[in-house]
This record gives sequence, C-alpha cells and structure tokens, in this order.
Amino acid sequence: MTIAATLGYPRIGPRREWKAALESHWAGTLDAVGLATAGAALRMRARATQRGAGIGHIASADFAFYDHVLETALAFGAIPEGYGWDGEGPASLATLFALARGARGTEAERAAGIAADAPALEMTKWFDTNYHYLVPRLSAATRFRLVQNRWAEAVTEGLAENCRTRPVLLGPVSFLLLSKPEDGTPPLALLPALLPAYEAALRGIAEAGAAWVQIDEPCLVTDLPAGAAEAYATAYARLAQAAPGLKTLIATYFGGLRDNLAIAAGLPVDGLHLDLTRGGEGLEPALAVLPEDRWLSLGIVDGRNVWRTDLRAALATLRKVADRRGTRRLMVAPSCSLLHVPHSLAREDALDPALKRRLAFAEEKLAEVSALARGLDEGDGAIAAALAESDRVMAEWRADARLHDPAVAAAVAAVTPAMAQRGSAYPQRAEAQQQRLHLPPFPVTSIGSFPQTAGVRQARAAHARGEISDADYEAGLRTMTAEAIAWQEAEDVDVLVHGEFERNDMVKYFGERLAGYAFTKHGWVQSYGSRCVAPPIIWGDVSRPEPMTVEWARYAQSLTDKPVKGMLTGPVTMLFWAFVREDIPRSEVCTQIALALREEVCDLEKAGIAIIQIDEPAFREGLPLRRADQAAYLDWAAFCFRLSASGVVDATQIHTHMCYAEFNDIIGAIAAMDADVISIETTRSRMELLNAFTQFDYPNAIGPGVWDIHSPRVPGAAEMAELLRLAAAHLPRERLWVNPDCGCKTRGWAEVKPAMRNLVAAAKQLRAEA
Ligand code: GLN
Ligand code: ZN
Repeated sequence: MTIAATLGYPRIGPRREWKAALESHWAGTLDAVGLATAGAALRMRARATQRGAGIGHIASADFAFYDHVLETALAFGAIPEGYGWDGEGPASLATLFALARGARGTEAERAAGIAADAPALEMTKWFDTNYHYLVPRLSAATRFRLVQNRWAEAVTEGLAENCRTRPVLLGPVSFLLLSKPEDGTPPLALLPALLPAYEAALRGIAEAGAAWVQIDEPCLVTDLPAGAAEAYATAYARLAQAAPGLKTLIATYFGGLRDNLAIAAGLPVDGLHLDLTRGGEGLEPALAVLPEDRWLSLGIVDGRNVWRTDLRAALATLRKVADRRGTRRLMVAPSCSLLHVPHSLAREDALDPALKRRLAFAEEKLAEVSALARGLDEGDGAIAAALAESDRVMAEWRADARLHDPAVAAAVAAVTPAMAQRGSAYPQRAEAQQQRLHLPPFPVTSIGSFPQTAGVRQARAAHARGEISDADYEAGLRTMTAEAIAWQEAEDVDVLVHGEFERNDMVKYFGERLAGYAFTKHGWVQSYGSRCVAPPIIWGDVSRPEPMTVEWARYAQSLTDKPVKGMLTGPVTMLFWAFVREDIPRSEVCTQIALALREEVCDLEKAGIAIIQIDEPAFREGLPLRRADQAAYLDWAAFCFRLSASGVVDATQIHTHMCYAEFNDIIGAIAAMDADVISIETTRSRMELLNAFTQFDYPNAIGPGVWDIHSPRVPGAAEMAELLRLAAAHLPRERLWVNPDCGCKTRGWAEVKPAMRNLVAAAKQLRAEA
C-alpha cells in the first residue's frame, strides 16, 4: 500500500505560538521548562494534525528551538569554546541561544560560563529558500560524538502517544558541505570523524522503536565539489550497517538530481525521495536506474509554494510510476518539508474566495498527499469528491479572466531591448547628473528608512483598526518626515531620504498598491529563529493602477533644496519575496512588475525627483542552485531591473541597494544592471566584498557601507573614515559614496543621530585628504 508521508512540518504554530514562547523566554518571562512545554505542545499538535489527515509516515525531530542545522551540530558535540558547554551531555538552552543570537552579556549567561562577547554563528540562506540556517563552526579539532540523541527522543515522544514517527536527520555529507571549517580544512575531510556519531544516532533511533529514518541530503541537487561522490559512497556504506532493521530514506529536494543521479541511486539505502515539483524531468531517468527493491518517495505536492495541487494530473504521474514498479514500495509526499509554507488557510477570512479555493497551505497539503496515496491504491472512486473539487477549481482557475489583463499583455509584448537601456553610457550620465546635482566628492546619503519607532508602529496599528482617521495618520507621518528632512539638512547630509515612515514593509507597501497581489492575514513562514515573514501572493497580472510613492516624494522634496531620493523596491525583490503564480514564467511576472515600477520611476522624475533608488536586496538570493541555470536568471533579472530604471533622462540618477551578498559570481550582472550608484553592505567584511568590484573593473559609482546597522554600536567618525580609505584603495575616489550598510528602520534615533553625524564627519575628512 502506498504510504502518505511528510518530510517536515511548520514549527512556528498556527498562531505563531512558538515565536511568542521564544521571545518571552528571551525576555526572561518564560523559563526553560515553560519553553520546553510550549514546544512539546506544538509538536503534539503537529502530530495530531498529520495523523488526522491520514499521513502514515509523520516526520519528527523536524522541530527546532531555533534552527535544525544548529541543533544537529549541538547533538554531535560540534560546539565551539566559549559558549558554556562543559563537553559532556546535552548543551544547555543558554548555549544554544548564545550560538544562535550571540551572547547578550546577561547574568544568566555569565553563570552558564558563556563569554560576554561570544558572537552568533554566521547565518545564511538555506539553499534558495528564505529560511536561514546557522553555519556550524567546525575544524580538524572538532571532536564529534553523539551528546544528545534528539532523534531518538523525538521517536520516544511520539510513541508515548502511540504515534510512530519517522525522525529527520540532516545527512552527514550535506551537514559538512553546509558548514565552514574555520581552519581551512576541506569539509568532507571531517567525514571519518563524524560518521561514528551518526552511527550512534541511528542505533539509538532504532532502539527507540522507529521503523524508518529520513536522512536529508539536499546537497544532492547542487553542483557537488570534488570528492563528494566518494564521500556519499563511504558515508552510506557505513550508515547502512549501523542499525540493521532500521529503514533509511534519503531525501533530496529543491531540485532534480541531474548528474548526481548515479550517486544517489547507488547508495545502499532503502529509499529515495525525489522532488517532482522542481526537477520533475528527473523522474524518468531515476526510474530507469533505481533498483526494483528501492522504495521511492514521490514529492509531488509542492512544499515551496502555496498553490493547490491538480490532483488528477498528479495522480496520472503517480500511476505511471505505479504501472512500472507497483505500489508496494511507494510513498507520496510533499516535495520538501512544509516548513516553507504557512500553516493553514482556515483563518484566512479576507481572501478573495476564488483565490482562496486555489490555495493550499501546510494543512491543506496534508489532505492532498493523503488523497493521492489513497487514489493510487483504491482508484479514483475512493477520492471522487476530492478529485471533483480539484477539477472544478482547476477549471475555474483557468477560466478566471482576472488572471490576465490584456493591457499588461500588450505592454509586455511591446517591451524592446532599447527600453532597458539608458539614453547614454555611464560617463555621460554621470556628467549630466553632476551638472544637475552639484554633489561634493564622497557624497553622503542613507539607505532609505529611519527608525520605525514604537510610535510609528502604534500609529499604523491604530490606523488599521480604524482608531485614527486617515487625515490624522497622514498628518503624523508628515510631521515625522518633515523632522527627518530638517534634521538631515542640519547635519549636512548631501542626498536626503524621506524616511519611509509610511511603509509597513518594503514589499507589502508596494504589493498593496499593485494589481495582481494578494495578502494573507496569518500566512507566516519562519525566516530564522523567531523571525517570520508573511509573503504576499502574486496571483494575477501585475500592474500599477495609481502612483504609489509620488505624493510622499513630492512632499519630502518640497521641504528642501537638497535632493531627496525617491525610494522603490525593485522588480526582482518584489518577485522573490512573494509566493508567485506558476502559470506563466517567473521572468514574465518580473517583467510585469518592472513595467509597473517603470511607470512609477517616470512619474517620480516628472514630479521633479532627481535621484531614484530601486532596492534589490533579493537579487542574489534568486540565483539558481545550479551553475548551469544561473546565467539565464542573471540575464533576465538584470534586464528587468534596467527595464524599471531606464525610462528616465541621463540627468536623473538611478541608485540601487543590496544588503549583504557574495558578489563574486554575480558581479557581471551587477554591472549589467547599470545603476548609476549601488550601495552595499561592507562594514563587517572590512571592504573585502569590494574585491569583486575591483577585479571586475566595475565602472559605475558605489556606496560601500561604513556603519553596521545590525549592531546597536555607534561607530566613530575616525573608524568610518578608515573604512572609506580602505574603499578608496579599491576604487577611484570620484566614484565613492558614503552611507550606512542598510536602512535604519530597526535602530533607534539615539543611535541613528550620532551615527549619521559621524558619517558626515568621516566624509568631510576624506574630502579634506583629496
Ligand atoms: N530602502 C530600504 C530601507 O532602507 C532598503 C531595505 C533593504 O535593503 N532591506 O529600509
Ligand atoms: Zn539593505
């Protein structure tokens, strides 16, 4: 019989209960026992939901206090010095949170032996998702051993209520490839030292009573480094022997196996999970080489997006497999962990009803998985109602005229290469802009937002609840904007910003003003730790019914003779920070957004705005996992940016901003974006990130950030000037700007005011050194 399975479930709770529990724990109002109890309750509920939906293989140990990669490292004793671990037994919660968030310098930390300045582990994106994991700090000296069998504990916890779960373990090869040995040891060289700890974990999992274990090896869908094939073979030859009787399923997701198929198919394990939603073309080749006795888990329900599965089409795919291999060793599952989609549609009472019918969040996806497994075993009749509903919604969806706006189609069809090209090359533009703007060398600006204080957020919430009138709310925002302008002028900032006080969020603000976007009320997805995001849903053609920012820009500019930057979120970021429709290519959705933004850019120019910044912090994160796919992406992404930016005259200056990113493999595309000025985050790397720009001979202007806005620390002018000198060693002085690393929305005025003052002083020092 086909098994309905999950690979992981959202941790945060349907009402973000976990966020609340974590944050109370950090604030000191919920003790460790209370926190553990809250976690156990959420896990119990997740098991009940999955069991109730008919899932046979329920993932466990997918829960994490903060992040599952961190907890894998902790369980295997990979804990650096200085975090209060005595080298024996499970790490404490204090140790875990110090690694996750950095020491806070509290009394409790001191008592736990945590160094006051212990930094947080580096955080980075989990493959191409918006989830972030903590990068384990390993070295040749790391003494791996199993100090806590969190997987066996999870099995035991389920069995206590008679629920036999399938624990999820991050596989040893992926674990090492995702880590960063600090002594330069190649990660895979640590495998022999690590394997005994994994063997012990598997033995414990078997002893706890599990029948199956799921071992995640998502790196199998990436370009593997040299030696990885051998590492996989060695690792799994050993792990297959570790616990006879415990069945192992290797899970791959976020793409197809492609050239790694032979590696995966050759592993001596019991089963293999394939992502059929990204990499479906890999199914046939896999069927051709997978041994008959291998279990196959088919990830056919999309775990990365929010759309309902076309059950009839999915069933047809499953039947093709069943016809060849039978259903004795088949599982049906979501493509990956459901961590990446919101919990449930149940409380979404404000969505357009037709749109809501098209959606499936985690809970609804469970029902799909279970219906598909049943349909495969018992035939269409057994799931007749679900199939009929699916057919009805698919037909309604295809026929929905609101998906397609003929005006948008015409505008997209009319796009020409020339539209994505500024009138002149950068040197001529720079001259025209200088004639208009008369900026000093090392011009000082900021990235856009100023503190979103409690006052701003309370006013917004009260306005949303209808307690403050539109007029009063706007008057309050205008006052804040005017104060920000006056203050920047007094501080001698060269290019001002209006402060973004009216914006709830850099994507939401625009999405709410664009056609084609929808917003959920509770569609939260974990981004990292307690931090959640509620991505909008792009479901129809995108267009701009009305100007979105022009009035605020005009108002801010009316208060000063200095230039005030218009401030927009770019097309690539608007795309990647959303759940996106799949009936047309992403590049086309991005083109639609770019055209809408282009209208805004032109309207800003008409309103007299001389400098317009189009933020693209998500540009790097859209990069496909496989090198072979990257050039095509970078091409259309840079094109869409230019399309949004190029409707203006030479004398209008276009800025862009990106947060922290590795620029080496995208620098060509950054240059192709052809922004007049790009600001980036360079403080922590002490300008090392500029190497990519220097080596490439990046031709336009750059504002390398010299103030780390992620930290409450206010840097002095001398310190910032020193960083600027480093930057000037990389790049010509005439093309350098002076700015913070990112927007200041998360900081307080008590930090922003002195820091901006120091920033201006640093720029003046450099001007004097000319
Ligand atoms: N203009 C935005 C701000 O300053 C940019 C934020 C970002 O890049 N994440 O807040
Ligand atoms: Zn930023």
